[in-house]
Amino acid sequence: MKTQVGIVGAGPAGLVLAHLLERAGIESIVLETQPRQYIEGRVRAGVLEQGTVDLLNELALGERMMRQGLMHYGIELRFKGRGHRIDFKQLTGGKGVMIYAQHEVIKDLVAARVAAGGQICFEAREVGLHEIDSENPVIRFTQNGAAMELQCDFIAGCDGFHGVCRDSIPSGVLKTYDREYPFGWLGILAEAPPASDELIYANHERGFALLSMRSPKISRLYLQCRPDEDLDEWPDDRIWEELHLRLATRDGFALTRGRVLQKGVTGMRSFVVEPMQFGSLFLAGDSAHIVPPTGAKGLNLAVADVRVLALGLEEFYRTGKRELLQRYSEICLRRVWKIQRFSWWMTSLLHKFGSDSEFDRRRQLAELDYVTSSLAASTTLAENYVGLPFELGQEPE
Ligand SMILES: Cc1cc2nc3c(=O)[nH]c(=O)nc-3n(C[C@H](O)[C@H](O)[C@H](O)COP(=O)(O)OP(=O)(O)OC[C@H]3O[C@@H](n4cnc5c(N)ncnc54)[C@H](O)[C@@H]3O)c2cc1C
Repeated sequence: MKTQVGIVGAGPAGLVLAHLLERAGIESIVLETQPRQYIEGRVRAGVLEQGTVDLLNELALGERMMRQGLMHYGIELRFKGRGHRIDFKQLTGGKGVMIYAQHEVIKDLVAARVAAGGQICFEAREVGLHEIDSENPVIRFTQNGAAMELQCDFIAGCDGFHGVCRDSIPSGVLKTYDREYPFGWLGILAEAPPASDELIYANHERGFALLSMRSPKISRLYLQCRPDEDLDEWPDDRIWEELHLRLATRDGFALTRGRVLQKGVTGMRSFVVEPMQFGSLFLAGDSAHIVPPTGAKGLNLAVADVRVLALGLEEFYRTGKRELLQRYSEICLRRVWKIQRFSWWMTSLLHKFGSDSEFDRRRQLAELDYVTSSLAASTTLAENYVGLPFELGQEPE
């Protein structure tokens, strides 16, 4: 098999890249280790920045999202039993976020790709990258037991945090920046109409809680927990009671309960590798960086990376120049670090850290008070949450 760009991974990064390349007249083949059904059912993120929404619409991939997604123009920060709304529309000149589940985005991207005759090889196993330091890299894999080879000009490593692309780069090239948090999120998907029209981020002395949703009938709720929390210790009733305690308000906020459809614990980490490219291989999305989910940025950052990559590849195939491709890491990392900063800040604002002293607790509450009462501070939160502008500019000296 031969193509211009071999894409490893059919997550948001890989699939959006395939569509961007198609628009630019560049051929690609996507290799995905899982079956189609699996990736279309994998419950993950659900908040799309304004820029991600606009891009999906520009690519004519947003029709179902615009019909079924929920556009939100604010979030609530809840602490000391009171809610405080951050009004995105007012603070950002009309911007908002779309609540639309990641696996629904995946379904739309896969369906459109297949309909356009694009190739996605599902269940590609034993994927290995070869000759990535040359201009003729090769991806070898097996499919239905048969050995396969994909020759290409470039490889996009969009295979997530546990993929093979990052590890294909020779040792000593990448520098890793990593932080693990002393907590995780216990998340449930519940057949219950959301008890609020907008997301609620609650700082509580028992730990953080988040009320989110996937549709007018399905709630997505999270509780801060131990990173190695044993789900067997959390029967549904205990989860609802804990959510009720942490989301409680002085005026009697009532949570809508319902059947728990799915339950899981997610660890929290911040992780970045630099650079994000080596030879003909370009890492994008979770294969190069992970953010804690508090800022709802993982998917959006993956999409921002591949926007840069697609522009670089377009420039190369149109003019033969590699100017943007050479600056790929620098351009992406500038945004990556701003998003790391925001995700870390939201996490530290809202969670209880094991080592918290009474001083830390009071400082955290003072910060929440400041963020919800100062125009400057709430604007900072709002402009980051709806998404910073997409830029290709140089880093200031
Ligand atoms: C449980 C969970 C909950 C999350 N919740 C949120 C949230 O609430 N908000 C938020 O913003 N973000 C959340 N995230 C993060 C967000 O989902 C990711 O940042 C996003 O999926 C990144 O997209 P990606 O395309 O880079 O990687 P992925 O979505 O991980 O896609 C990578 C793809 O590559 C495939 N793959 C892996 N190895 C190989 C291989 N060797 N060969 C071929 N294919 C391979 C995988 O099967 C996968 O389909 C969550 C992540 C997880 C794991």
